[in-house]
Amino acid sequence: MKMHNFNAGPCCLPKQAIESTIEAIRNFDNTGIGLLEISHRTPGWERIMAETEQMWRELLNIPEEYAVMFLGGGASTQFFTVAANMLNKKAAYLQTGVWAKKAAKEAKFYGEVEIVASSEDKTYSYIPKNYTIPTDADYFHITTNNTIYGTEIKYDMDCPINLIADMSSDIMSRPVDVKKYALIYGGAQKNVGPAGVTFVIVRKDLLGKVERPLQTMVDYRTHCPEEQKNHSMFNTPPVSAIFVMHETLKWVKENGGVEGMYKRNCAKAELLYNEIDRNSMFVGTAAKEDRSRMNVCFVMAPGYEDKQDAFMAFAKERGMVGIKGHRSVGGFRASIYNACELEDVQALVDCMQEFEKLNK
Ligand SMILES: *Cc1c(COP(=O)(O)O)cnc(C)c1O
Repeated sequence: MKMHNFNAGPCCLPKQAIESTIEAIRNFDNTGIGLLEISHRTPGWERIMAETEQMWRELLNIPEEYAVMFLGGGASTQFFTVAANMLNKKAAYLQTGVWAKKAAKEAKFYGEVEIVASSEDKTYSYIPKNYTIPTDADYFHITTNNTIYGTEIKYDMDCPINLIADMSSDIMSRPVDVKKYALIYGGAQKNVGPAGVTFVIVRKDLLGKVERPLQTMVDYRTHCPEEQKNHSMFNTPPVSAIFVMHETLKWVKENGGVEGMYKRNCAKAELLYNEIDRNSMFVGTAAKEDRSRMNVCFVMAPGYEDKQDAFMAFAKERGMVGIKGHRSVGGFRASIYNACELEDVQALVDCMQEFEKLNK
């Protein structure tokens, strides 16, 4: 049976990225030695690092004045690293989910944190609007896609102060105007690779402005030294994860770049949301205007709540994987990241239609 992977992260990756990684683990760059067994100081590896950075720059049109870094520790490590490097007195946070809340919590170690708005009152089912960004804050932090609740800020906002974004779960899903951001970060394991590598894109002139001393590894400048072309090589980088990211970005490039991804993602999201809205047995949980193109959350419609387990079993029998909703939302969540194919979404839609016919 063909499996349809809707896992929220780690999640589906392009098949060709998996295949070429398997080959590289056996024999990296025709050296006769495997990827996991080489030194990260070999020229072959330095080329992979340089190409990976180059693809990021090309795909997202990242200007020269920004550094692109590949670090360890996951997005969660960036919650405090961002604040350590960027927060002098006060920072503003938009609380659109638990990831945003966790980011704000870590920032409090370094200064005052103002939560400008929160949608916690309604289980983060919408993106707050009509809030005021304090202009005396060092930065405004947003989470562009709220992986758990299926809401997304789908545009690059105008911000009077430095804008910092956790783009863990929607990076490379659409064109982004990088110049509108001071810093963009995220874990790779939703859209650009496996767990183990974290990307950080930062405008270099904003670094070194905080008054506190920073530990070497926490200081971004350690990882993007001016005098060195290759970034992220201060210590051993997460070699295997970066290799998979390299192969994943190659696939993105070959499939129309971020514009191509955007088209694919719009088509998949439209197909699934249309079915949720049409099908009398299901309802979406996120406010329509804030619906995520990456994580689609839905529950059984009123009157059909007792069918939840039955649908889960029905879907599982038909090869659907990872559609259980997060415990805080319940119901179902289909994560339809870049590498998810339209035919996977179609299979889920067919499944929902068949279930409706049999159970209504
Ligand atoms: C998954 C996720 C995180 C956490 O990432 P880790 O790499 O596991 O620390 C943070 N923010 C968002 C938006 C996420 O989706």
